[in-house]
Amino acid sequence: MSKNAWLKYEDSQLADITAFSEGYKKFITDCKTERECVRESIILAEKEGFKDLKDYIRDGKALKPGDKVYISNMEKAIALFVIGSRPLEDGLKILGAHIDSPRMDLKQVPLYEDAEMALFDTHYYGGIKKYQWVTLPLAIHGVVVKKDGTVLNIVIGEAEEDPVIGVTDLLIHLSGAQLEKKGAKVIEGEDLNILIGSMPLKGEEKDAVKANILKILKDKYEVEEDDFLSAELEIVPVGKARDYGLDKSMVMGYGQDDRVCSYTSLLAILDVKETDRTCACILVDKEEIGSVGASGMHSKFFENTVAEMLALTGEYSELKVRRALSNSHMLSSDVSAAFDPNYPAVMEKKNAAYFGKGMVFNKYTGSRGKSNSNDANPEFMAKLRKIMEDNQVSIQTAELGKVDEGGGGTIAYIMANYNMEVIDSGVAVLNMHAPWEITSKVDIYETYKGYIAFLKEI
Ligand code: MN
Ligand code: MN
Repeated sequence: MSKNAWLKYEDSQLADITAFSEGYKKFITDCKTERECVRESIILAEKEGFKDLKDYIRDGKALKPGDKVYISNMEKAIALFVIGSRPLEDGLKILGAHIDSPRMDLKQVPLYEDAEMALFDTHYYGGIKKYQWVTLPLAIHGVVVKKDGTVLNIVIGEAEEDPVIGVTDLLIHLSGAQLEKKGAKVIEGEDLNILIGSMPLKGEEKDAVKANILKILKDKYEVEEDDFLSAELEIVPVGKARDYGLDKSMVMGYGQDDRVCSYTSLLAILDVKETDRTCACILVDKEEIGSVGASGMHSKFFENTVAEMLALTGEYSELKVRRALSNSHMLSSDVSAAFDPNYPAVMEKKNAAYFGKGMVFNKYTGSRGKSNSNDANPEFMAKLRKIMEDNQVSIQTAELGKVDEGGGGTIAYIMANYNMEVIDSGVAVLNMHAPWEITSKVDIYETYKGYIAFLKEI
């Protein structure tokens, strides 16, 4: 087995890893929804001289080698580019990851009163073990769009003086029947109701507690009951990402699947000064529910953007769009399941990802006989081995658990449809899809270095 990546760093170099993880912790603390990730990505990109590609498209302004541009897709996905000296039809060097994470979303008609308590009804998003989401302090992040188009950005629960909300659980004293249930049924989807109030509005006859909540929403946030019809409000764990472990070697935070690969990919493209072939970083939405919808990877957004860029370099043709995509190389990044000594039975030790062993490459993911996976070409993997070795990046390879134990998907197979070289890569995580996930700081740093090496050399 390969050497632990911590061991190759001198004590004096450990500060670089710590500094990088501080930036990362801040990012995942501040960005708990896809919209927040897009907004922060734009702020970081503009600081590095990136300009809005939509301005170029609107003005028909020519794109030149060295130009740095970004484009937001409905505020929920983003693509960033550094234009290369070679024509776009020679292909792009692409880093991709997703910025949506498992959570609970408010239903369209969420608010109700029962037993003089006010509650929000939710529909969970992505794969969660529902019993993990009870008795935690939770926050509301998202947008409410008023009929006139005004977008209200809402964050309730993160500031010190903010209230928190949450899903209650049954007391142990009365849990005899509940604890006999299967894990998947202990807490069921329709039980994920958020307790948000218990004080009646004076003078109100019916549903006075709900009426009081509506009054607060109106007074404080200008939100009325009907406005929930045009809202995207996400319920997420409250609080900051923290150092984890007595040695502070790890990070605990919400939504590290897949913001750990998103942040590292983003910082890698922000680092590019000049390039032969055009570099791209795409951070997409909806991976956790199948990459569907306009802001998911299945959308034509990326392909359309490449067409627009060809037009702005004076090179547009349908054939060149196809060539640009099929000549591309991509690291499709997502988290891997880290080996957990508490649960060795689901892993095959030779082909598992470990904390401290660096960036993970997955030739394939999928389940039951590699179904639905992008099975990357060994020729591509060989190039990557060489690049990572030349740049002293620690890498490991892994599968998602034992054969037939379960499985999962990523965005890799979607981009592979363009006939480009794609491989799954990323960072190992413990507690995947739980409210608080754990990663290794040295793995995060190795992955960031791996992305930089890829953009430079592929
Ligand atoms: Mn993921
Ligand atoms: Mn996931």
